[in-house]
Amino acid sequence: MTYPEVVLKAGRERRILEGHPWVFSGAVAEYPAAAEPGGIVDVFDQDRKFVARGYYNPASSIPVRVLTRDPEQRVDRAFLLARIRQAHALRRAWLDTKVTNAYRAVHGESDGLPGLIVDRYADFVVVQFHTLGMDRLREPVVEALQQVAGPTGIYERSDVGTRRPEGLETFPTGLLAGEQPPGLIEIREHRARFWVDARQGQKTGFYLDQRENRLAAQAFARGREVLNCFSYSGGFSVYAARGKASQVVSVDVSEAALDLARSNLELNRLDADAHPCIAANVFDYLKACKAEKRRFDMVIVDPPAFVKTREALTQAVRTYISLNRKAIEVLRPDGVLVSASCSTQVNYETFFTILKHAATAARRELRIVKSHLQAVDHPAVTTFPEGRYLKCFFGVVR
Ligand code: SAH
Repeated sequence: MTYPEVVLKAGRERRILEGHPWVFSGAVAEYPAAAEPGGIVDVFDQDRKFVARGYYNPASSIPVRVLTRDPEQRVDRAFLLARIRQAHALRRAWLDTKVTNAYRAVHGESDGLPGLIVDRYADFVVVQFHTLGMDRLREPVVEALQQVAGPTGIYERSDVGTRRPEGLETFPTGLLAGEQPPGLIEIREHRARFWVDARQGQKTGFYLDQRENRLAAQAFARGREVLNCFSYSGGFSVYAARGKASQVVSVDVSEAALDLARSNLELNRLDADAHPCIAANVFDYLKACKAEKRRFDMVIVDPPAFVKTREALTQAVRTYISLNRKAIEVLRPDGVLVSASCSTQVNYETFFTILKHAATAARRELRIVKSHLQAVDHPAVTTFPEGRYLKCFFGVVR
């Protein structure tokens, strides 16, 4: 069986051969006459040499996402099973699954499975199909997950905006296999425990990518008055309180997130009354703190991605500077700033410069003492910079 053929413009095969998994529409010279959207195609260069095999979506600005560069490799059940098995093995090698039972089991392109996200929460698995091509493979993917992960249930959370540019107009959620997950799933992360709302929570229920940063923050928290901005379900708050912070204030706009944050403090036998959870816009809250001269010894800033496109980058940089400036302004001398950015477009150097400008604007000195990227279960292949999105800096403010 042969696959329909996509032919690239001259020289445009180089990046793909190097390992980038996306064929942009601007790189395509010839589209196949008859190829089913979402089906498998072969990519050739101008000399009709095989470049890669992947799934096809002519409606997308990325008409092909590469699955393999081996012309002998069929894209079938065995292929998906092998990739998912390989992804699982990586987690088992790098994560202590005895103390941590929630992790990203498949991280899309960076695990050779473009458009597929699989998060493990204790005995349950939550999946997202981001693209038409991966959506088409849902049945063998679910079968492979059952085989490799053996979960009690597999739940879908494909309520993601990324499906829209793929021409997908459905955002399916619901049970795919096994048993329905409970309203809240209890997970363990290091020595902390959390309730995860896999059915209604943000993304698939928990921000697993910050696991190592939460642990690092715990080590700085002892005796400090901590402000956790954009707290969601209290991830950093629980770690800071476990690290013996004198008080942790959690701020988020979402009441549902804060209800969960309170439950998570209680789950860890921490006094939820001693650690207030406040529903507010972080920008307003920081402004009010400054005006009232309310100060902290540690401020954590983990906002959602302000920038999703290259065009929006300039505005986003300004927002990051202003936000971090406000955070620095409410820190006491020798206070600790923990500042994260999950915008792919803001790279490591740019974020470092953002913090420089924020400190300068606040007329304070900021010494970076530590910096981290996303957790080990969110690998980033060197040839796919888009997969490297999270930065987290720890600094001391004078
Ligand atoms: N640090 C968290 C994840 C943060 S996700 C963790 O470790 O789990 C970002 C959060 O910011 C979301 O919960 C969202 O509700 C909240 N949010 C977005 N904009 C906000 C704003 N302007 N003010 C307060 N919270 C905001």
